[in-house]
Amino acid sequence: MHEMGIANSILEAVQKEAMRYPGNRATKVGIRVGELAAIDQDALRFCFEVLARDTALDGLQLEIELCPRRHRCHDCDCTFIVREYDFRCPKCQKVTPQCVSGDELELAFVEVEEEDEPTAVGRKSSQ
Ligand SMILES: [Zn+2]
Repeated sequence: MHEMGIANSILEAVQKEAMRYPGNRATKVGIRVGELAAIDQDALRFCFEVLARDTALDGLQLEIELCPRRHRCHDCDCTFIVREYDFRCPKCQKVTPQCVSGDELELAFVEVEEEDEPTAVGRKSSQ
């Protein structure tokens, strides 16, 4: 079950991020998951809860943002979302096998809480 390893990496990343804000507690983490990354969201949530339990990150919320598969057409340089395995470029109808995204697995943001006000920090795109 590779979700366990993924959940573990997410928690490690959150711990690192939270260390930059002493006195605050991480309350929420957002990740981006491409639909091609073949991740079972339920399994990932389960592993995440199990691993976070009884640690400093107990109760941490996990927000999963699904990223669709995108292809780019060589002819007209158009990037489009692939639905139902239809790989045709919407502009020129050419079949476009070049996948440019959809296998993401990355940290989107970590929210830490100071007193009662949640604050969004570290919102970043790694690309
Ligand atoms: Zn095209």
